[in-house]
Amino acid sequence: MSQLIDGKMISQQIKDELREEAARLKARGRNACLAVVQVGEDPASTVYVRNKKKACAYIGIDSKSYELPEETTEEELVALVKELNADAQVNGILVQLPLPAHIDEDRIIRTISPEKDVDGFHPVSVGRLWIGEKGFLSCTPAGIIQLLKRSGIEIEGKECVIVGRSNIVGKPMAALLLRENGTVTVTHSRTKDLKNVTGRADILIVAIGRKKYITSEYVKEGAVVIDVGMHRGEDGRLCGDVDFADVEPHTSAITPVPGGVGPMTIAMLMDNCVETIRGQEERP
Ligand code: NAP
Repeated sequence: MSQLIDGKMISQQIKDELREEAARLKARGRNACLAVVQVGEDPASTVYVRNKKKACAYIGIDSKSYELPEETTEEELVALVKELNADAQVNGILVQLPLPAHIDEDRIIRTISPEKDVDGFHPVSVGRLWIGEKGFLSCTPAGIIQLLKRSGIEIEGKECVIVGRSNIVGKPMAALLLRENGTVTVTHSRTKDLKNVTGRADILIVAIGRKKYITSEYVKEGAVVIDVGMHRGEDGRLCGDVDFADVEPHTSAITPVPGGVGPMTIAMLMDNCVETIRGQEERP
């Protein structure tokens, strides 16, 4: 029987722990405030932003909203981010991606102060992650580490294969698994004989953005499979990059979609927000 890794339950556990921690820090006069910036009215972004603000309210983190029109110029957005960098009331800054095509996302990410970079996308945060320094962790991969640890799955010494090398999932995932002493392989669209490589994995992490691409032929018997993908199927239901029905019987543990990796991303964003007010002594 495969273990179903319950991201809904684990993310709730983390949010409850953070809520208690935030209340303790508040009692000592430390208050977190997240500035959430959205440009335009992309419906998916609006849902993400709403959920992030709801999570802040649950945990006891203040949030400030900046809803800017689609026509906002890059210079106007840079000016706002600089203003938020300088605002002592604001501890964390989140600019919801994607931005409209006329705005250079990289420039905006680099304008956010690394000390307020709760998404963990700034090159300074990425560098800190790779050299093992304390810093903001990219939320989705950090959530996957929590899913594994809190489900009792050991990473140390395991063959970990990641499918996908994006800056937001695949690459930071590799750094975090290395930090946990996994043996890590990163694959991508130019990888030769992908099935042979993924077939070695004790822990297989899939982030390719292709609906139900990974079938049982890619998976070693008894592997742990983590599915980062998120798609709307023809039947209107959500599904992942992994063909769950085909793969699940061959695994020892697997994440569902929805209810696996998805809910963890916001929980870890909240962890980064609380991190902005943790003193040296409270750092886990
Ligand atoms: P991305 O930026 O599109 O990157 C996809 C990666 O997969 C690329 O590195 C690409 O290789 C690789 N790839 C594509 N086709 C492949 C193939 N046939 N064989 C091997 N590798 C292949 O995607 P992403 O942003 O990492 O997102 C991946 C998925 O996760 C999407 O479905 C996204 O919606 C989802 N997601 C979910 C969450 C969450 O919170 N649950 C968060 C982020 C993303 P190349 O580099 O060679 O092009």
